[in-house]
Amino acid sequence: MQMTRDGTRWQWRWMQFLVALLVVALIAVGLMGIYHSSKERHRLHAEREVQLISQLQLDILRAWRAQRHTDAVVLSDTAMLGAAVSAWLHPGTLNAERSYLQSQFERDLRTLQEQRNYNAAYLVDSNGQVRLSASGVVSRSLPVPEARALKQAFGSAQPAFVEPRQDETFAFPFFSVLAPIYNGSDPVGAIWLVVDVRASLFPILERWPSGSTTAESFLAVPEGDHVLIISPLRHASSAMVPLRLSMSDSERPAVRAVKGMRGIFHAVDYRGEPVIAFATTVPNSPWYLISKMDLREALATDWREIMAMGLPILMGLLAGGLVLVYLQRQAWRRERDLKQTLERTLRWLENAQKAASVGYFAYRLTTREFSASKTTREIFGLIVDMPMSLERWLNNVQPLDRRRVAEVYRRTVSQRIPLHIRHRIIREVDRQERWVETWGEFEADPATKDGLRLVGTIQDITDRKHIEEELERAKTALEAQVRRDPLTGIANRLALDEYLEHEWRRAVRAKEPLSLLMIDVDHFKHFNDEYGHVAGDQCLRQVAQVISSVVRRSTELVARYGGEEFVAVLPDTVAGPAAILADRVRQAMRAEGIEHKHPEAAGVVTLSIGVVCVRPQPADDVSVGARLMLERADLALYEAKNAGRDRVALFNGGTIRVVAGGDAAAWLP
Ligand code: GH3
Ligand code: MG
Ligand code: MG
Repeated sequence: MQMTRDGTRWQWRWMQFLVALLVVALIAVGLMGIYHSSKERHRLHAEREVQLISQLQLDILRAWRAQRHTDAVVLSDTAMLGAAVSAWLHPGTLNAERSYLQSQFERDLRTLQEQRNYNAAYLVDSNGQVRLSASGVVSRSLPVPEARALKQAFGSAQPAFVEPRQDETFAFPFFSVLAPIYNGSDPVGAIWLVVDVRASLFPILERWPSGSTTAESFLAVPEGDHVLIISPLRHASSAMVPLRLSMSDSERPAVRAVKGMRGIFHAVDYRGEPVIAFATTVPNSPWYLISKMDLREALATDWREIMAMGLPILMGLLAGGLVLVYLQRQAWRRERDLKQTLERTLRWLENAQKAASVGYFAYRLTTREFSASKTTREIFGLIVDMPMSLERWLNNVQPLDRRRVAEVYRRTVSQRIPLHIRHRIIREVDRQERWVETWGEFEADPATKDGLRLVGTIQDITDRKHIEEELERAKTALEAQVRRDPLTGIANRLALDEYLEHEWRRAVRAKEPLSLLMIDVDHFKHFNDEYGHVAGDQCLRQVAQVISSVVRRSTELVARYGGEEFVAVLPDTVAGPAAILADRVRQAMRAEGIEHKHPEAAGVVTLSIGVVCVRPQPADDVSVGARLMLERADLALYEAKNAGRDRVALFNGGTIRVVAGGDAAAWLP
């Protein structure tokens, strides 16, 4: 029963554990799924963002460049300008005209600067000499890149640009536009427009509208076997601009863009950081626009999102967990209450055992381990706190009882029967002899699978034993008292009845004869009258002694039948010897010579005796038989009295023979 309950409980625990494991696994898989889909979504989102913003920037860049181009084309197409420049440059032109033209040009250049947002504007002659600025005459050569661009512009009859750079020409990074000017079809010079790229171009790239912390866009241009990054980088100091990358750095997004990569791709940027990149070319320019975002940011787990998706699951889990915890707590509480009750009961039992001097013990058959409670150890008066063993247990048994106790234990263990024994022990501590009573029963050993153990109680019953012995003595004495005639000290009527019935039965079994004497004091009424009752009592005592001195075999019984009548029971005695014995009693009484001076008496106290002998049969009723015996003896006694007293009469098969004194031989059949 216990085993099954334990088994079920274990199965239940396992089930709970497996279900919990399954739930946790499902949640883990779910969260992983959420995590992965969230990552994927983030990546797509980041790619879209990079692409969109890049395209937006591209449009603005194209517009910016187109604007410069338009400005230059407008200048080139102003027909009057070519003639004026030609006139101003011609050495033959009048000074007045020249200074008028110069002031016009200066005003125009200033207008360009102020209204079209150029940082500087110059008039350049066809040889590449800078001649005029908004604030007056200048005399110097165009820087080499601008001079090259001028040639290109004259060659193509189109404005030419010089890509952003920083050098000693200006204090800021600048972009140059060269607008060729023609007089008719002859190139006469150019307008050189200078843009501070920090103010108008770079801000287009420097803003990343989504608030991303790692995203950036930059412009790259190829230069031989290098790629130049011409705009500032968010994560690099501006001192590094332009950054020069080798074409062999094929991991870099700029290099890959220059090598032909378009659209979204993954690369590793100048910091060695994996990025999502988007590359395009800016139309009508050598520019490559590259926008990128750190992969780390793109894939960054948005825990809030995961939490939002995982929250219902977590809540469910939490609720389930709470329910489980609640149920577990209930179970714990129940178990704890049961334990407390059990402990209380055990304590109570221990106290009760202590109060009753009852010790507890258990003997495990398989391991022969013996455990004994405190009270048990106290009963044995154990000196050392050594473990109790069967040997030690038996050693403490009083040597006289040891063999019996060992035998009982042996039988108990071999036959698995309940144990009950009382015996003495000698206490270890004070060598005192004590009585103990031990009860024991076998039960399944809870510690082993199918072992047995003998559990029981041991009680110090010394006090009880003493009382019992006392009682026994008192009882014996009382019983003796009950069966003794207080006057004469011999057996009384009760003892006689019992003895007679007992001997009757024995005679039946042994097929032996049984004889009985009914003895009566002659003229005792007169004796009392003559000598008084006290003397009468004394006389009766003497009569009893006389009869007992003759009828004295251990198997024979002399009893006072009542008043001055006595009965002697003679087992295994046939009629003849019974009559002879009766006559010896009669003679002994005479010989005692108790004076009886009454005229009707014989001078001394005499006895009349009736004798009967029977052979009890199994069919006879014992009490009827005993009564009949007494009646017949009484009849014989009556005859003895009639015959003159001081005689013995024998009841013999319907006839009664009376013999007056002495001749014993005459009695023999
Ligand atoms: P018999 O020879 O016919 O037996 O004459 P008896 O006087 O002995 O006859 P009976 O049986 O009539 O008298 C018995 C007397 O015994 C009567 C009674 O006073 C006396 N007696 C009986 N019990 C006791 C006793 O315990 N003590 C004394 N002192 N006398 C007793
Ligand atoms: Mg009488
Ligand atoms: Mg009498």
